[in-house]
Amino acid sequence: MITRLNVHRQSADWQRALAQAVTDPEDLLKRLGLDPALLPAALKAAERFRVRVPLGYLGRMTPGDPADPLLRQVLPLAEECLEIPGFQCDPVGDLESMPIPGLLHKYHGRVLLVTSGACAIHCRYCFRQHFPYRDASAIREAWPRILCYLRAHEEVREVILSGGDPLTLSDDKLAAMVSDLAGIPHLRTLRLHSRLPVVLPERIDDALLSWLTGTRLRPIMVIHANHARELDGTTRAAMERLELAGVRLFNQTVLLKGINDDPDTLAALSHALFDSGVQPYYLHMLDPVQGAAHFAVTEERALAILDHLNRQLPGYLIPRLVQDISGRDSKTPLVRTFQTVSDSAV
Ligand SMILES: *Cc1c(COP(=O)(O)O)cnc(C)c1O
Ligand code: SF4
Repeated sequence: MITRLNVHRQSADWQRALAQAVTDPEDLLKRLGLDPALLPAALKAAERFRVRVPLGYLGRMTPGDPADPLLRQVLPLAEECLEIPGFQCDPVGDLESMPIPGLLHKYHGRVLLVTSGACAIHCRYCFRQHFPYRDASAIREAWPRILCYLRAHEEVREVILSGGDPLTLSDDKLAAMVSDLAGIPHLRTLRLHSRLPVVLPERIDDALLSWLTGTRLRPIMVIHANHARELDGTTRAAMERLELAGVRLFNQTVLLKGINDDPDTLAALSHALFDSGVQPYYLHMLDPVQGAAHFAVTEERALAILDHLNRQLPGYLIPRLVQDISGRDSKTPLVRTFQTVSDSAV
């Protein structure tokens, strides 16, 4: 009885935190004491992709600093409204590899399920910001067909719950999905792609750990942090709970101009991840999504940054620099197409 009550109270905690997220650009500027002159552009850009920032994440920003690397990830700017050639709505060809609504099967042995269109935070560079979630998150209707597909594809070992953010779904829904998946004998690994351990660490509660670790599937989680300042005591505690429960933790980062495009920032991130028990996994080149061109880092600069990281860090703290190119059968590692990079590129 008491356990049940606890579970309900705790799940209400994260849902309340989610509901209290800042969604009004004016509110965002006011809370951080920023120049109201930023507002008109923010309002305009927020029309195409709304603002959403959890209060805990906002609390890690430096008030009064318009260049704060956390703020830059969520503040809509006039640049988002520019149409830049080459920056598209479906930059990674997702819609071509969706045999069933909500199921992406691009790579051997693993499928990705778009389980939810919702996120706890709206990242301005997000490659799925134009994704037709209304169709994709028809996953509930398509669920029997998805299970059929997975049963028929015996080479699939791993199912990735992604989104949006899968952890915005209720524990009941997630537990039911995972139970259906665990009933398919050839599936071995359950992977979650979620930014919630970073932006809403309250989400990692007992009810979540109960379905995530109560399955025969091996649980792994790929979190998404872009800057060491995104990690604090609350996120560290969330990762510790996951780690203690036996969930392997990896991180993916997007390389973002003006936010983390220098080796010291990325080295600090790797160290902070390690301190939280998280293994750096991918460093993604920005997907050329419409509205995000101002975050793009050139390949030359990215490779020069990687050179510096290679000289500063042990191998296990170096993420793989990759690009998501449509039509390929894996993420594509970035490789040198020229002889040397001068240090001045960094
Ligand atoms: C990135 C991605 C994956 C995961 O790739 P890994 O290399 O296994 O991390 C799987 N499916 C799709 C559609 C993806 O975009
Ligand atoms: S899918 Fe990930 S990157 Fe995109 S808005 Fe949601 S949390 Fe941010």
